[in-house]
Amino acid sequence: MEKKLNVIVENCPQSHPCPSVQVCPVGALTQEGFRAPTVDHDKCIRCGKCANFCPKKALKLE
Ligand code: SF4
Repeated sequence: MEKKLNVIVENCPQSHPCPSVQVCPVGALTQEGFRAPTVDHDKCIRCGKCANFCPKKALKLE
């Protein structure tokens, strides 16, 4: 089965601008305020860059 990027909201402190938003090469992550980011699954190419970048492991390719 193909992997999908999941946001693990419980891992995200939701207290800062998400650094992974800047790392995504296709602009598939968006953040409203300091909330956990959301994924546009149509844009996401499942490269895993955001998942590797998030220090809280709040983005998981699985
Ligand atoms: S897996 Fe890659 S393409 Fe998908 S949201 Fe993360 S950085 Fe963007």
